[in-house]
Amino acid sequence: MKAIRSIRGMHDILPDTVHVWQELEHQIRRQLEAYGYQEIRLPSVEFTELFARSIGDVTDIVEKEMYTFEDRNGDLLSLRPEGTAGCVRAGIEHGLLHNQVQRLWYLGPMFRHERPQKGRYRQFHQVGIEVFGVPGPDIDAELLAFTARLWRTLGLRNLRLEINTLGTPASRARYRDRLITYFEARQEALDPEALRRLYDNPLRLLDSKHPDTAAVAREAPTLFDDLDAESRAHFDMLLTHLDTLGIAYTHNPRLVRGLDYYTHTVFEWVTDELGAQGTVCAGGRYDGLVEQLGGRATPAIGLAMGLERLVTLLLAQGSASEPVGPDIYLVVPAGAGAGPEAFALAERLRDELPTLRLTLNCGGGSMKAQMKKADRTGARYAVILGVDEIAAGTVVLKPLRDSAAGQLTLAQQDLPALMRARLQRQPGGPDR
Ligand code: ATP
Ligand code: MG
Repeated sequence: MKAIRSIRGMHDILPDTVHVWQELEHQIRRQLEAYGYQEIRLPSVEFTELFARSIGDVTDIVEKEMYTFEDRNGDLLSLRPEGTAGCVRAGIEHGLLHNQVQRLWYLGPMFRHERPQKGRYRQFHQVGIEVFGVPGPDIDAELLAFTARLWRTLGLRNLRLEINTLGTPASRARYRDRLITYFEARQEALDPEALRRLYDNPLRLLDSKHPDTAAVAREAPTLFDDLDAESRAHFDMLLTHLDTLGIAYTHNPRLVRGLDYYTHTVFEWVTDELGAQGTVCAGGRYDGLVEQLGGRATPAIGLAMGLERLVTLLLAQGSASEPVGPDIYLVVPAGAGAGPEAFALAERLRDELPTLRLTLNCGGGSMKAQMKKADRTGARYAVILGVDEIAAGTVVLKPLRDSAAGQLTLAQQDLPALMRARLQRQPGGPDR
């Protein structure tokens, strides 16, 4: 029978790398808490209409990347391609947005039917952050300070911040007209898709990955000249904050985001070390979206980090955490499997040292085979409980990682205290 395989672009994350994910998620969570952000958990499936109304009909995501299906009730649903729409939907639905400040975050899989390649998958994971109710550039700066600190904490290097402003809807409308005029005059040089989008969504042409269109886009006028005073003041203040915070940035006047709803600030954290998929975090302000989805006008800003890309970068830069083996591998060479004495000892150790990592050898095996297994788990110590030890009420403690340290025999009741002392002195010990 032909084996069933995973779907193209949707990957298993195996135990040998999952610790990198866990450590990354742990650091992100810890820092989000430290900055006063609250987690929100959202469904993975929403009405298709939600994405069409927020992301926009004339975007890659809605036109060709969504997993859309009719469910058994005949409702048109989509797997979420991103989290902002669902977060805004939930905020409006539960009255979280009006007249209050919300700092929210979520983590989870997103789904886009893209061409799979390095750093681009059909199921991928994002941590998203959304802040509602703060109109000024102080919150924009806070988000950037947050991400800059996160890269430092994670030990990531060579990430650069590109930043731009898309202004208010009014300045954007003026710019739109100017762009259409510019591209219209160069129609023969555009690819068919760009031509089709020219009148619906000319800003998207700036983002085009088609070489011909990209070449024309490189010479296009920038929005900066169309900025009104308010937009310029917002942007200038943000740059002042970044200077104060010591966060380096490049103003890239051609940076536009893939999604339609952005206003004012847009930004990306980019690396050259991941090939073509170098953006690990992207975001911006979307002051119009809450109202567009039926809520009362609420200023908002958000970002999303691609966790696959961050994991790849951590591994590439040698900053990924090491896998953590057990503290103790309990070797029980007495009979066919772990006996009552072994369980009693294991459970007693777990009672006394609640964060102890202990693996009990189940399934029997010779002393030699069990010691081999112990070594393979990366355990720090083997604790041996054979027939002689059971009879004498002792155990043998054998360090596995420190060749200089010898093994010792001790009374079973002395083991918890000894382990507590030894593990506390090591990073990753039970009291970390
Ligand atoms: P791109 O231009 O690379 O397609 P995007 O504008 O579609 O990016 P966003 O929607 O802003 O990306 O998503 C935020 C982040 O999520 C990206 O910067 C990236 O790190 C990650 N991401 C987006 N799409 C994918 C994907 N298909 N596979 C893996 N990560 C992704
Ligand atoms: Mg995309």
